[in-house]
Amino acid sequence: MKDEYKHKGMRRNLVKTLRDKGISNEQVLQAIGEIPRHFFFDQALVEHAYEDKAFPIGSGQTISQPYTVAFQSELLQVNEKDKVLEIGTGSGYQAMVLLKLGAIVYTIEFQKALYENTKQFLPRLGYQPHFFYGDGSKGLSRFAPYDKIIVTAGAPTVPDQLIEQLKVGGVLVIPVGDHKTQQMLRITKITERKVRTENFSDFRFVPLLGEEGWK
Ligand code: SAM
Repeated sequence: MKDEYKHKGMRRNLVKTLRDKGISNEQVLQAIGEIPRHFFFDQALVEHAYEDKAFPIGSGQTISQPYTVAFQSELLQVNEKDKVLEIGTGSGYQAMVLLKLGAIVYTIEFQKALYENTKQFLPRLGYQPHFFYGDGSKGLSRFAPYDKIIVTAGAPTVPDQLIEQLKVGGVLVIPVGDHKTQQMLRITKITERKVRTENFSDFRFVPLLGEEGWK
């Protein structure tokens, strides 16, 4: 697949849409402006790649809406060399945004087929997070602590283990709610025992499965 002039034009429009919707972090907008999202789509569906919409990626899962990716990435406040855990690798698009922001990315996926596909696909674009297969609702304790944790599926509650796996000063961005809507939360670990929670708008994600998810 090629990245042509028309795709670049469509990306510019997408970035404008995200700006109009309130995304203001220039690094996030630049990453989205550079990543060929159509590479993440089947050839027949390429014309949908730059719509601000979620899209099916197989195994009953979705590539998140660009606005959602931008919103979560902005909330995460990624710094160069931050160690970031992403729960829900999916297509790898969000992981690529985090890598473009300069993060060192650990990403875990519960669906074997998606894990296998994305582990093959993303390095072909020149991007190499650390890929893991398994239940990320419990985090990934082997490589903790993290500067940032981002959950890209809707959780019923905030898993304690995710807070435990954050560094002091670290940030967890997680959508929490029922099956219909989830509220975006940003949780900052102030001390080993204290967190600050900020609530943002409602989103709609596929469910976080697993032991600390929807089982
Ligand atoms: N970040 C993804 C992207 O950029 O394409 C979004 C993927 S989708 C909205 C959410 C993903 O979370 C799905 O791929 C789903 O299989 C995964 N997921 C759900 N529960 C999980 C769990 N307990 N551990 C790891 N991944 C999980």
